[in-house]
Amino acid sequence: MNEQLTILSELPERFFDVEISSICEVFPTPTLIHLNGRKSPALFVSILLHGNEYSGLKAIQALLSKYDILPRPIYLFIGNVTAAQQNCRVLPGQTDFNRCWPGTEIEPNADTQLMAEVVEIVTRDRLFAAIDIHNNTGANPHYACMTDVTQDNQHLAAMFNHIGLVFKRPKGVSTMAFNGICPAATLECGKPGEEIGIKHALELLDGLLHLDHFPQRPVAAHDLQLVQSLATLNIPDDVSFDFNLCAQSDLTFESGFELKNFTEIKSTDIFAFTRVENPLKITNQEGEDVTKDVMRVENGKVYLNKTLMPAMITLDKSIIRQDCLCYLMTDYQE
Ligand SMILES: [Zn+2]
Repeated sequence: MNEQLTILSELPERFFDVEISSICEVFPTPTLIHLNGRKSPALFVSILLHGNEYSGLKAIQALLSKYDILPRPIYLFIGNVTAAQQNCRVLPGQTDFNRCWPGTEIEPNADTQLMAEVVEIVTRDRLFAAIDIHNNTGANPHYACMTDVTQDNQHLAAMFNHIGLVFKRPKGVSTMAFNGICPAATLECGKPGEEIGIKHALELLDGLLHLDHFPQRPVAAHDLQLVQSLATLNIPDDVSFDFNLCAQSDLTFESGFELKNFTEIKSTDIFAFTRVENPLKITNQEGEDVTKDVMRVENGKVYLNKTLMPAMITLDKSIIRQDCLCYLMTDYQE
């Protein structure tokens, strides 16, 4: 067994009071808790794969406090507790806990082994669905992400909101590990701790505890707009940047850049300003460099070559360096 993983069959004392700032007192290591319920199969819920994204903790505390006996069993996985305690997505030197699930491209290490073990345990019996709860750093609508466009996954996404996001990269995310096993979605619940995001996640989880089965009919088109990520937009390490058009940086964006989340940017709209030749690096779903296909620089202005929607924009500079600035989306086409 992976030495990091704690396995419990009941909630520890203080579960309902614990905050992320002291979470290691209750959960010193990543922990999988199996809670009994009335009707199988169980629901798998993962929280805190990104340590600072604690709406999932609040939602599951609210959910579990509602029941003496759960309508269906739950496997609850509490992920990166050491990062959570420091209110960080991931600590320096750690593996990103949502990049090391089965199917990952990173080299095997203790964390890939940990996630493989979690999947192995929770899939010994059938699962009803797998839900991974996250937050965004920017101002985004709530939406579910799927990595496999099945009818069940679309129903799951539509239960959460009318926007669903399809992505195939990065590899190694938890939702992808459940493809072919059960319906699986990542919930993006707005900024960490926002009441409305917590309530929204709680309602979905509660719905899944009671749902008998996913509908057999296809999802109505007006119930779900499926968009897909075409590319990931990174800022090279040697390019300085700012969200202030007056800043003396290699690359500048409007201060309200995050309001462009899920809005269409046309090929004639200015995306950013730059004083360098290669201010951005854009990679497609296969990880190939498509910068030249997707964008162009003209007279110090960055333009996209076709209409696209940015999503998951963050203005947090350390997250931009660690992860990416945003994704570029288009309507999903099979
Ligand atoms: Zn996250």
